[in-house]
Amino acid sequence: MRCYCCSSKSFDECCEPFIKGDKHPSSAEQLMRSRFSAYATAHYQYILETYTKEKQQGLSVEDLAQSAQGATWFALKVHPTLAASSVDNSVDSLVGNSVSSTEESSIDSSVHADAKVEAQTNAEAISKPSLKLISKPNNAIVEFTAYYFENKSMYQLHETSNFSVEDGKWRYHDGVLHDDCGKIKYGRNLPCVCGSNKKFKQCCATKSR
Ligand SMILES: [Zn+2]
Ligand SMILES: [Zn+2]
Repeated sequence: MRCYCCSSKSFDECCEPFIKGDKHPSSAEQLMRSRFSAYATAHYQYILETYTKEKQQGLSVEDLAQSAQGATWFALKVHPTLAASSVDNSVDSLVGNSVSSTEESSIDSSVHADAKVEAQTNAEAISKPSLKLISKPNNAIVEFTAYYFENKSMYQLHETSNFSVEDGKWRYHDGVLHDDCGKIKYGRNLPCVCGSNKKFKQCCATKSR
């Protein structure tokens, strides 16, 4: 089975070893993908453990499970432009942050700036009103869109997230939601958002419930 995070790998060769604790993600993008797969498979303990220590405080597995209730997470798109834009001048941290970024990644700070300006600040997942530009090593930013169904409607969550390394492991800190988050209509004959090359109606639309 193709991994929930919509990579080209199978679940047991992609996100599952991270969720089971057999391996640790070697990049912020890998951690983000595995957290998406953990949401898709209801592994809330993993979600909790992969927050930074600061953010873990005041969170519980029950809270996370409750906030995800009713949502069927079915597809993830990582935006390559931002995957490598760990806004940082230091060569060390650029090297550190690009360990396993995708081959299409490129650094485009103007796109990044736009995303930041457009980001919405009043959404519930936000704990800080603005995205801080990263100036320390071992930090990275990943922009993604995650898709889910709730009550037979399709939604997207478009976020730019801050990640940092704690005790040698990548952790999710916080994120800023973009203003295109929410319910969307997606044509049933369009190519599926998961990148399968099938029509939406023949692919992920069948997971709607
Ligand atoms: Zn995966
Ligand atoms: Zn699909």
